[in-house]
Amino acid sequence: MSVVKGVNAKESIDKAVAYIGGLKNLVKKGDWVIIKPDLVAEYLPYSGVTTKPEIVEVLTRLSQEAGARRITVAESAGVGSNTRVAFKNAGIDKVAQNLGVELLDLEDDQHIPVKVPNYIANEQLSISKSLLECNFLISIGVLKTHMDAGMTGSIKNIFAAITNKAKRRRHDIDILEEKLVDIVSTRKPDLNIEDGIIGQEGIASGGVGWKKPVNMNLVVVGRDPVAVDATSARIMGYDPCRISHLAWAAERRLGTYKDNEIEIIGERLEDVSRRFVRPYEEMTVDRTKLRIVAENACSGCWTKAMRVAWRDTDERMIENINIYIGPDAFPPVGQKNLILGDCLKGYSDRGTFVPGCPVKRGKVQDAYWKLKLS
Ligand code: SF4
Repeated sequence: MSVVKGVNAKESIDKAVAYIGGLKNLVKKGDWVIIKPDLVAEYLPYSGVTTKPEIVEVLTRLSQEAGARRITVAESAGVGSNTRVAFKNAGIDKVAQNLGVELLDLEDDQHIPVKVPNYIANEQLSISKSLLECNFLISIGVLKTHMDAGMTGSIKNIFAAITNKAKRRRHDIDILEEKLVDIVSTRKPDLNIEDGIIGQEGIASGGVGWKKPVNMNLVVVGRDPVAVDATSARIMGYDPCRISHLAWAAERRLGTYKDNEIEIIGERLEDVSRRFVRPYEEMTVDRTKLRIVAENACSGCWTKAMRVAWRDTDERMIENINIYIGPDAFPPVGQKNLILGDCLKGYSDRGTFVPGCPVKRGKVQDAYWKLKLS
């Protein structure tokens, strides 16, 4: 795989694809190629929220040069957003028009039931027929933190394979990472790209706030979705084995997150990395009576805590609650502590303890409210 940094996005993606052998060696003559950008909402191209049009343009051109018979740029924007407007605002409708390729709102596509091999949460899922049937699927995520999945990347980007109705189910939102792995188990992208030209840090989540763009001027490209996302995680300062959906995807042999198994051509990660503000860190800046101490915590646990605390908008009733997560957290005695996860079992007598690895959101919610109202 490759990591390329540079101020010219077109040159960077061109170079990064060439480093892994070029698209001509991957796309066969006559293939149907689907390019799936991340257009979660109707944002402008350089907001750091959506995939940059230059990246879609270069990949379309390279697919054409490789002899693709049909090229489709496909997306289903987040629930409540309009995909057609998102295509337009992101500048991708112009790219499609100029290069003569089609746009597809995946919400209009047929979805067909597929059994999930080695499933975590869903034995069966209804998946976009086009994504299942195309010969070559290119997933382009954007380098962002995310409050329900830890981060966005190639794997998170494939969430659009299911219908809005399925995305909206409350229970399923609470097990988003589990669902992401199930979806990718049914349709693994053939080429994975992380658009790190401009990303986002902090809360940066589906629909609630994108206000911290981070200019990184880099792209990550590779065949293995887990390796591309793990490398992107490292660039943002995460330990990829603590991004639960990457760990679970690796367990299911969808790829590897181990650095000794990932060969990178291009930049050295230590030269291009920068720690991104975590969603819970940004949230607790505004909520002075709530502290989330996450020390080496997995996203499977901190995202649950984050979502429960986020839904509680009544700051007046929060009485200095401290939430401890992760094997290296150290909850002191004598505080109003919520202690999450089996790795902190040894401290279960120092507050309200929620077992699980990872914890279940419903159990965190019950414990949180009990503690708050006590
Ligand atoms: S309980 Fe398990 S999933 Fe949660 S932080 Fe500890 S090791 Fe990670």
